[in-house]
Amino acid sequence: MSTLMSEACPRCAHRLETISISIPRGAGGYRDLAGFEATGYRCPRCGVGLIPGPVVQELMKALAVGGGKSERHRRGTRLACPGCLGNLDEVLLSWSTTFVEIEQCPRCKAMLLEAGEFPKVFVIEHEAKG
Ligand SMILES: [Zn+2]
Ligand SMILES: [Zn+2]
Repeated sequence: MSTLMSEACPRCAHRLETISISIPRGAGGYRDLAGFEATGYRCPRCGVGLIPGPVVQELMKALAVGGGKSERHRRGTRLACPGCLGNLDEVLLSWSTTFVEIEQCPRCKAMLLEAGEFPKVFVIEHEAKG
């Protein structure tokens, strides 16, 4: 089951795989979200992670991340959002002492994280093939 309009990686076009994600315990503003779990996607070739819009919106209810005061800049990219095929924006998020550069869809709120940035925000619990 997929909630995406496209299962192709926006960076390299490889098929995304489903992963289970959670929030790292004690990670700054995320401490109130211990136990949060959701389904996300990751590219097995280039390693980018994708957090679907509905998951991001659930997180944003509890966090000032992904819109609001933690957002430092926003500029358009030519990458297509796998969730809705709109264009992703480049966004710098910050909370406590953490800064993370992501791409985010202004329409469905899906987030794309580089391989190295993903562990700053999410823990990959296990990987579900297919
Ligand atoms: Zn890729
Ligand atoms: Zn989108």
